[in-house]
Amino acid sequence: DPVFEIADASVTYGSFVALRNVSFDIPRNRVTALIGPSGCGKSTLLRCLNRMNDLIPGTTVGGTINFNGENMYDDDIDAAEVRRRIGMVFQRPNPFQMSIYDNVAFGPRLNGYKGNMDDLVERSLQRAGLWDEVYKKLKDSGTAISGGQQQRLCIARAIAVEPEVLLMDEPCSALDPIATLKIEDLIRELAGTLTIVIVTHNMQQAGRVSDKTAFFSVEDGDADRRPGELVEFA
Ligand code: ADP
Ligand code: ADP
Repeated sequence: DPVFEIADASVTYGSFVALRNVSFDIPRNRVTALIGPSGCGKSTLLRCLNRMNDLIPGTTVGGTINFNGENMYDDDIDAAEVRRRIGMVFQRPNPFQMSIYDNVAFGPRLNGYKGNMDDLVERSLQRAGLWDEVYKKLKDSGTAISGGQQQRLCIARAIAVEPEVLLMDEPCSALDPIATLKIEDLIRELAGTLTIVIVTHNMQQAGRVSDKTAFFSVEDGDADRRPGELVEFA
């Protein structure tokens, strides 16, 4: 069964229709890439998948987006709870101004994690492919490591709460080619146990990392005035 079933979804910012009538299913424990030109609504759709769009005043989400068979936008759904189950990583690595250890422990502490925190931090950093590079300096600031390491730290922070889904919004576009390849390898490794949805505008990257690709386009004309649409899902 798919994790997300997106049916006839449309998103508006005020009177502007950013995304129109999008329908496709996102498979579980696979990598799905959202690809298309700038302004076609990729980030918008990604943010709908963890209800981050709720935080932007004036946004409406039409149609249905089911998460595990339940409409995520039903009135009785707790958006904060949804966000706990669906982690997110952004284009610019954004570790908190705290130690590497505290970055990873941040989410579990918020959730009142009762297990052994040292083990969880180690396991999360291992899964993110970062442990070997940082285990001697867990007390150093999360912002004192390289950009690629910071991005893997952000991935470790996101997966430490064991989300079902990891959303990634152009996670490599601020990184050098070697750091990019490391993140791509990591995405492939994580996909066995986690559903990943990645926004990219790099076709080669989509080919390397994804099992499924949703191709978006924007109607001819000024992208700032035209709705984005899904043109193919393969
Ligand atoms: P992409 O990720 O494909 O570049 P976005 O989802 O960021 O596209 O944006 C889709 C369209 O919606 C663009 O025209 C963009 O300018 C517009 N848009 C994005 N966020 C907002 C917002 N908060 N308010 C108004 N318009 C927005
Ligand atoms: P990207 O294309 O990488 O998603 P942008 O630089 O287009 O990023 O947008 C950065 C932020 O500004 C996003 O959060 C987006 O939602 C918001 N944004 C984009 N377009 C608009 C807009 N027309 N009005 C208000 N906010 C916007």
